[in-house]
Amino acid sequence: MSNPDLIRSYWRDFIDGSHILHHQGVVDAYGHLSFRHPLKSGVFVMSRNIAPATISLPDDLVEYWIANAEPLDPNSASGYAERHIHSEIYKRHANINAVVHSHSDAVIPYTIMSVALRACYHMAGFLGAEGVPVYNITEYLEQGDLRDMLVRNEHLGNALARFFDDGNSVTLMRGHGFTTVGDSIQQAVLQAVYTQHNAAIQTAALTIGASSASMTPRAAPSSIQYLTKEEAQAAADMTKWSSGRPWKLWTREVEASGLYVNSA
Ligand SMILES: [Zn+2]
Repeated sequence: MSNPDLIRSYWRDFIDGSHILHHQGVVDAYGHLSFRHPLKSGVFVMSRNIAPATISLPDDLVEYWIANAEPLDPNSASGYAERHIHSEIYKRHANINAVVHSHSDAVIPYTIMSVALRACYHMAGFLGAEGVPVYNITEYLEQGDLRDMLVRNEHLGNALARFFDDGNSVTLMRGHGFTTVGDSIQQAVLQAVYTQHNAAIQTAALTIGASSASMTPRAAPSSIQYLTKEEAQAAADMTKWSSGRPWKLWTREVEASGLYVNSA
């Protein structure tokens, strides 16, 4: 594949991925996807500051320096306030090629409660058996930082990026949302979608457990049988090799919808 064809295929996947994240309810007007530029060292790509569902043209995409999250072209349209989530993850982790950041309703409760989000089923083995870590931005704020929960600068982004040091795939963000990383756009999108599904499943299971305990007060509280470490690892491998199937389905779904346009 020639270089122009290669970058165009990334643009297409990026725009499809942004539409899929919206169609699946993982992002609304907020939230974003990015990818490491496959040809330009030290550069990543995300859209200008618009809702992911409305990204449609290569002109909607902006190239940023990983070093400081500033656009290569200083005359570029304004970018997302939270670009440092992406730049700092690419800076710290050479093996990460795509990042999704979401404010999913289903996931938020696990960012503000002491119940850990854990792999409940085979499609979310990448969440692991131990529980997904939670980034509490309050611990990293410095003088002058706004208290709006957004990751607005290098030191807040760097603190978040460190949560991926041990090969972790997903980090929850207190009172805000979550960020997931992958070695491809497809993998990051798949993890974002199934993180949301897993959160809904875990909430349903916890609700059943709580209601059954209230109905039979003397019975031992029913506990969730999460995936074991071994099961979670094997399931994570499975979703990696099978990720082409949901990607094809989800791409067809957004192509068939009148809302989304991909002109790349
Ligand atoms: Zn955010």
